[in-house]
Amino acid sequence: MNKIQNYISGKLQSISTNQLDVHDPSTGEKLSTVVLSNKEDFISCIQSSKKSQLEWAKETPLKRSRILSNYKNLIENNISLLAEIVSKEHGKTLEDAKGSVIRGLEVVEFACGIPHLLKGEFSQNVGTNIDSWSIRSPLGVCAGITPFNFPAMVPMWMYPIAIACGNSFILKPSEKDPSCAIKLAELFSEAGLPDGVFNVINGDKFIVDEILNSKEISSVSFVGSTNVAKYIYEKAAKNLKRVQALGGAKNHLVVMPDANLDQAVDGIIGAGYGSAGERCMAISVAVAVGNIGDALVDKIKLKAENLKVAPWTDPESDMGPLISKEHKEKVESYISRGEKEGAKLVLDGRNLKLQGYEEGYFVGPTLFDEVTASMDIYKDEIFGPVLSVVRVDTYDQALKLVNEHQYGNGSTIYTSDGEISRNFTSKCEIGMVGINVPIPVPMAFHSFGGWKSSLFGDHAMHGTEGIHFFTKLKTVTSRWPKSIKSGPEFVIPTN
Ligand code: NAD
Repeated sequence: MNKIQNYISGKLQSISTNQLDVHDPSTGEKLSTVVLSNKEDFISCIQSSKKSQLEWAKETPLKRSRILSNYKNLIENNISLLAEIVSKEHGKTLEDAKGSVIRGLEVVEFACGIPHLLKGEFSQNVGTNIDSWSIRSPLGVCAGITPFNFPAMVPMWMYPIAIACGNSFILKPSEKDPSCAIKLAELFSEAGLPDGVFNVINGDKFIVDEILNSKEISSVSFVGSTNVAKYIYEKAAKNLKRVQALGGAKNHLVVMPDANLDQAVDGIIGAGYGSAGERCMAISVAVAVGNIGDALVDKIKLKAENLKVAPWTDPESDMGPLISKEHKEKVESYISRGEKEGAKLVLDGRNLKLQGYEEGYFVGPTLFDEVTASMDIYKDEIFGPVLSVVRVDTYDQALKLVNEHQYGNGSTIYTSDGEISRNFTSKCEIGMVGINVPIPVPMAFHSFGGWKSSLFGDHAMHGTEGIHFFTKLKTVTSRWPKSIKSGPEFVIPTN
C-alpha cells in the first residue's frame, strides 16, 4: 500500500508512524495512506524552511522568475498526470481537474513577472533634494493550509507568489487528497528550486496548530470552511502573524425577468452541479425574480435530470461523487431537512446507485423550489449538488437576500438591463460579482476573495493582493547633504 509522506528539503520523508486512509470516492476503496506528521516532522520542516529562505531571499527576482518559468513548462508538460492525480483522490471529472490545474498554472505565469511586480514607487524631490522610494521585502517563512476541493489550484493561489517574493513556503494540504501537492513540489525541485524553499507537510489539526503556534512562521494563508477559517484567523493573529483566511460560501444567481433564460439555465446547471457542487464558487441558490419562476424551474429540472453522474474514468461524466462517506451522509441529511422544512423537492439525488460503483459516494443532482430565507437549506453551506430556487417579486428583494446572507463570496445576475446590472455591481455585499457570467472567478492577475464570513483578513489571494500579502513594505527617504547648513531641527519638516 502506497504511503504518502512529507516532502521536506527535496526528499520524501516522515518520522511519525501515524497514518490516515485515503479513499477512492468513486468506489469507496482504500487507495493509500497519508502520514499524520508529529512534532519531530514539524521541527525538521521548519528548520529546512528557515535555512533555505535566508539563501533564497538573496537570489535576484530575475533568477527566481527563470525558475518559475521552468516550473511553468514542467506543469504544462504534466497537466494530464496532475489532473489524473486530482481526479483519482477527489473524484471530479478529468476535464474539470485539468481546468483547475490550468487555473493554478496561471498564477505561476503571473508570478514569472516578479521582477516587474516587485518594482516599488519612486518620487524625486519629495522635499528639496530629498528622494523617496519603496521596497517590498519577503516576510520569511510562510505557510498555507488548504481544502480538499481544489488540491492543485488553491495551493497554487498561494505558494508561487510567496516564493517569487523571496519567501520559503510550507504547505499543509488536505489529508483527503494529499498526493497532488507532493507531485507539485517534486516538479518545482526539477525546475531548479533550491531544496527546502517549498516543503509539504501532511497531517491534521495537530500540524495546523504547530503552524499557528510557531514563532518561525510569519504568515498563514488558509482556505477551507468558515468555522476553521475563524479559528485560524484568531489564533494566527493572536500569535502576531499576517493572516488571510478564506471560508465557505452560498452563492446566489439572480435571474431577472428580462434575462436570456436559456443562458441563465446553462449557467445554473454548470455552476450548480459541476464538481458535484463542491466548489466555493458553486451556485447553490437561484433567485427567480418576477414571473420567471415556473419556466426557470422547469428548464433546470429538464437539464439536471439528464446529467450523467459517473466516475472520472468515464469521459462522458458530467459530475462525479462527493469526497467522503461522511460528506455524502451530510448532504443527504440536508435534503431530508429541506423536505421537513417545507421546501418543494423537485429532483431528489438520494439513493442513486451506479452499477459497479455501489460503494461510491455519489449523490445525484437535487433541486428544491419554494425555498425561503428562514430554512437551513438556504442558510447553510451544503457543499453538494443541491440547488435551491427562491422566488421573489422584485429586484430589491433579490438584492436584500444576497446582502443579508452571512456569506459573501460570489454572486451573479442575469439580465439584459445595464442599469440593473450596474446597480447590482455597486450595491451587493459580495467579493466577486458576475454579470451574465455564472462563476465570476477572477484571473490570476486580479485577486480572489469574498466578503463577510467568506474571508477573514485584509488581503485576497493572488494578483496585486498576493504580492502585498507576501511582502513587507519599506519606504526610504534619502538626501546627500554636502551643502546643507548643519544643526538640529525641532519642527516637523514641511514643504
Ligand atoms: P476544512 O475546513 O474541513 O479543511 C481545510 C483545511 O483545514 C484542511 O487542510 C484540514 O486539514 C484543516 N482543518 C480541518 N479541520 C480543522 C480544525 N478543526 N482545526 C485546524 N485545521 C483543520 O475544509 P474542506 O472540507 O477541506 O473544504 C471545503 C470548504 O472549503 C468549504 O467550506 C468551501 O466553501 C471552502 N472553500 C473556500 C474557498 C474560498 O475561496 N473561499 C475555496 C475552496 C474551498
